Amino acid sequence: MAIKRRDFLKILGVGGISTIGVAGIGSLYSRAEVEVVPHTPPQGALKAKRWGMVIDVRKCIESGEECIKNCEAIQACHLTHNVPNIPDKKKEIKWIWIDNFEHAFPDLKDQKIVEHLSRFPFFLLCNHCENPPCVRVCPTKATFKRSDGIVMMDFHRCIGCRFCMAGCPYGSRSFNWIDPRPYLTKVNPEFPTRKPGVVEKCLFCYERLDEGKIPACVEACKSQALIFGDLNDPESEINKILKERVSLTRKPELGTNPSVFYVI
Ligand code: SF4
Ligand code: SF4
Repeated sequence: MAIKRRDFLKILGVGGISTIGVAGIGSLYSRAEVEVVPHTPPQGALKAKRWGMVIDVRKCIESGEECIKNCEAIQACHLTHNVPNIPDKKKEIKWIWIDNFEHAFPDLKDQKIVEHLSRFPFFLLCNHCENPPCVRVCPTKATFKRSDGIVMMDFHRCIGCRFCMAGCPYGSRSFNWIDPRPYLTKVNPEFPTRKPGVVEKCLFCYERLDEGKIPACVEACKSQALIFGDLNDPESEINKILKERVSLTRKPELGTNPSVFYVI
């Protein structure tokens, strides 16, 4: 049985659940300023002050096991961005994937919440944090935050030191231990392939936004469980959903302020 918003908030005795507008808890992660790189979108591009994503986990579960198992959103992202399919889990590359509640929200221990949400699938990807620790620790500025909130990667500048991976508290980044190219079933010539020694992650489809297109995962999801938009626009669809539904962000106590929200 679904938990009503009021009842849910009642059993909420722990951090980890928030609605938009509730300030993050101050922490070490939020103290230092992160430099923002100005970004001027080309003509015809989709624009936002702060791009964000809402993931409707209820819609995802309603879509059924088969849809989750053969998730077209994940396939679309990985095909579009030449993400290899490496069978060795220790070397795999992931931009967006599905995991269970315990892995997505390991800090939420409240038994009632865990019981309620344990059957939900959770899409995990880079949170495009407002205060991204990965950016702060990168010595070459290969990863940087744009003025529209997207946390970018410059693959050519990455020296493979993996400080950003150590800095990210969400495990959102992957490292190319081996040459990924032999593990591509099909190559998209419009997106660069990578080489060993480079870190990568979800880039909120910056290249598609420039062409006036929504992210590949959002477009491919048949159940419309992924919604993309401007967190700074009160009229955007994602803000309307966030006002009406209970939402979670991952590890809010760290003060990274994710731009990815889970509505339940
Ligand atoms: S989720 Fe991790 S990689 Fe993405 S912006 Fe936040 S700290 Fe950086
Ligand atoms: S926003 Fe784009 S890059 Fe990020 S997970 Fe979705 S399809 Fe992949």
